[in-house]
Amino acid sequence: MTVPPEVQPTSNGATSMRTDRCGTLRVADVGRTVTVCGWVAKRREHGEHLAFIDVRDYTGIVQCVVPGTIDVRSEYVVAVEGTVRLRPEGTVNPDLPTGEVELGDCTVALLNAAEPPPFPVDDRVDVDEVIRLKHRFVDLRRPTMQANLRLRAKVNGAMRAAMDRQGFVEVETPLLWAPTPEGAREFAVPSRLHHGSCYVLPQSPQLAKQLLMVAGVDRYYQIARCLRDEDLRADRQFEFTQLDIEASFVSQEDILEFVSEAVLDAAEAATGERPGPVPRMTWAEALDRYGTDKPDIRFGMELVDLTEVFAATGFRAFAAPCVKAIVLEGGASSSRSRLDALTDRAKALGAKGLAWFKVVEGGGGGTDVDSPVAKFLSDEEKAGLVATTGAAVGDLVLTVADEYRLTCHVLGALRVELGGRPVSEGPYRYLWVVDFPLFDGVDDAGNPVAAHHPFTMPHPDDIDRLDSDPASVRSQAYDLVLNGWELGSGSVRVHRADIQSRIFTALGISDEEAASRFGFLLGAFRFGAPPHAGFAVGLDRLVAIFAGEDNIREVIAFPKTQSGWDPMTDAPKPLAPAALRDLGLQPIPKLD
Ligand code: ASP
Repeated sequence: MTVPPEVQPTSNGATSMRTDRCGTLRVADVGRTVTVCGWVAKRREHGEHLAFIDVRDYTGIVQCVVPGTIDVRSEYVVAVEGTVRLRPEGTVNPDLPTGEVELGDCTVALLNAAEPPPFPVDDRVDVDEVIRLKHRFVDLRRPTMQANLRLRAKVNGAMRAAMDRQGFVEVETPLLWAPTPEGAREFAVPSRLHHGSCYVLPQSPQLAKQLLMVAGVDRYYQIARCLRDEDLRADRQFEFTQLDIEASFVSQEDILEFVSEAVLDAAEAATGERPGPVPRMTWAEALDRYGTDKPDIRFGMELVDLTEVFAATGFRAFAAPCVKAIVLEGGASSSRSRLDALTDRAKALGAKGLAWFKVVEGGGGGTDVDSPVAKFLSDEEKAGLVATTGAAVGDLVLTVADEYRLTCHVLGALRVELGGRPVSEGPYRYLWVVDFPLFDGVDDAGNPVAAHHPFTMPHPDDIDRLDSDPASVRSQAYDLVLNGWELGSGSVRVHRADIQSRIFTALGISDEEAASRFGFLLGAFRFGAPPHAGFAVGLDRLVAIFAGEDNIREVIAFPKTQSGWDPMTDAPKPLAPAALRDLGLQPIPKLD
């Protein structure tokens, strides 16, 4: 067998127009005559005989010394030929990777003039979001944005390689399609050829990838664009990208393995360090200890159960199905206004109130609590509160008493608000959350709502309760969480018609409705659906965390503003009358 020649990357980025990239020149290059191309970052004149221009490309900046004067301005596009030489003593710039050298005796070819940029191409300058997005092509020249885009490509590449290695095949699925039953509002695309009908943009390739399993593809993946017409937030855009996977003849274990491999590879590519194995927690434990299904396990402040302590309490506010607490270390010095604000916040989160206790020195070297409600508690209850929470003198104990889920939710949110750190701040703590409930809450008609989507397989131990007690049924659905952000979800799918029909019954979906909404999938399942399962990892979120960004907009080339507007193209825009006619559309005034 002949060994193919090693492909050498063109590390200097040479093309027919340049020999090197600006930011790569070093002392070892001294004496070489090179040509670099890029944008003028800065220009200074030294009298009439010498001009200095800093030229920038995505690799960085190099200082070029030009004899005489030169008529270039910021962001002009130039090609500069010169000889690499050591900078004169005293002029070395230690902040610049190229700071020991410069290009001397340069000749500058002007490739294109540029209008003055709307803001300096400089990471240190804070620029208004709308102005940045309006001129995104300039904004992306900034070193941080360049690094973010390249980091994203690296993460994508690592994930692709991991999936290829694990025997997955990349298949593209349609963008113009039919609705996907995953609960988000969808974007519709009116059809020109079928007036009055619309395609729907996929909120995920869920149904397509399940069909690919029926088709015998066995292991599918795609770096897939998904579209959801939902309110935008720091971790949400209309369009986002997922590493979407599905595999046949697998269990939950196999999927967790495949996904861990891809995510840990991506982490290694991005950060240089491979995280250890990802720990696991059941959904019930996550809720109980952290008050959320996406716990940030970088810090403690876990919820403490006090229900037993107050089981026989005479204090009406604590005579609730559940009493829980969190402890804010050193929080006893909080001012009254801060405590009032915390109470208001708890109420805004849905609690009836928030009882706070400052842990103080008690008589005889013990502890006591200082609280407006202390007088309603017995000495045993006060002692039990301190002992069970483990709070020390100087700490603040915050308690909520209510229904179990609500109590967990309120304290879970306060825990993050009081103890949390920005999501992108290390260390990176991954967590698998497994055994989600199959259903979550009820809809307006009183029917249970699918927690993941209606094709999720119930937990084998709970399947018998599907008809009698659906709320207690766990599913084979799982999430991957990183620093309190949900990175992705997946499930083992229902591949058997009898189980699927019991789930539809529980969801209140009639046979006719099921047939009209996803008849094509159910129909396909009759032709030999293998057992299958899958997952999707949110790439924007993952890259944002690796990039140290708390908003996914910073790792997306052309994102929208919070209101879903693109200031650069001004999309969305009204359609021209002719286009409306073509599509058979007639605008009507917005109804509120
Ligand atoms: N389609 C799901 C999602 O987009 C992921 C999955 O179940 O594979 O969240």
